[in-house]
Amino acid sequence: MIKAENVKKVFGTVTVLEDVNLTVNPGEVVTILGSSGSGKSTLIRCINGLEKLDGGRITVDEFDVAKPKELAEARKRSGTVFQLFNLYPHMTAVQNITLAPIEVLKRPRAEAEQEARDLLASVGLGDRADAFPSQLSGGQRQRVGICRALAMKPRYLLLDEVTSALDPEMTAEVLNILAKLAAEGTTMVFVTHEIEFARQISDRIVFLEKGKLVVDLPTERFFAEDGGLANPRVAQFLSKMR
Ligand code: ADP
Ligand code: MG
Repeated sequence: MIKAENVKKVFGTVTVLEDVNLTVNPGEVVTILGSSGSGKSTLIRCINGLEKLDGGRITVDEFDVAKPKELAEARKRSGTVFQLFNLYPHMTAVQNITLAPIEVLKRPRAEAEQEARDLLASVGLGDRADAFPSQLSGGQRQRVGICRALAMKPRYLLLDEVTSALDPEMTAEVLNILAKLAAEGTTMVFVTHEIEFARQISDRIVFLEKGKLVVDLPTERFFAEDGGLANPRVAQFLSKMR
């Protein structure tokens, strides 16, 4: 379970997250919506321990990300996929995927490689295992990125706008994989602008506005009521997205 309590994050004089409370339960898919600059990526980075909190607390399976000794345990539990281009360019798909399992989990190389090839096959990239990132399309690279996160056998996947740099066809390739993972019960925290997709796969939608988490509702209610009680900000956001 991911639990954020009264989270605050400040950059310089700007408060980017304020009093954010969020719980993600095992098996849940939670989508974070919000305008550009509302703090979505910062929240994901805080959950992953990439940003120091200025207030509040985040635990992942009871491990406090602010405590150096517990952060490693927390990190092991969440696999993160970012927007694009975070594969190592000098490594093949398999090498990118096996790096952390070999280095961090101390998995035997042959075993890790077999698993990487199986993962790649499961996302339709069985024949691209030995390609370098520059030889892959954006959609293929993102699928490798997802495999790399899955190779660490995380309890949670954190996905930050993983399709926003992709054209519609490649976006569909990646969303199909995510839909499959969701159907298998993978716990996911998902930042996306793909509203219709979010509607299909999410159990809950939360809405960030200027660093505050102003809505947290089951998906059906979020859409039926424009964020609950016809929240004008959510209505405006959704009308721009559609
Ligand atoms: P979103 O992902 O919702 O678009 P971000 O979390 O990236 O929003 O950013 C929220 C706010 O924090 C923005 O105003 C952004 O400019 C600011 N911000 C993000 N990262 C930094 C940083 N490292 N230093 C200073 N300001 C930052
Ligand atoms: Mg962002």
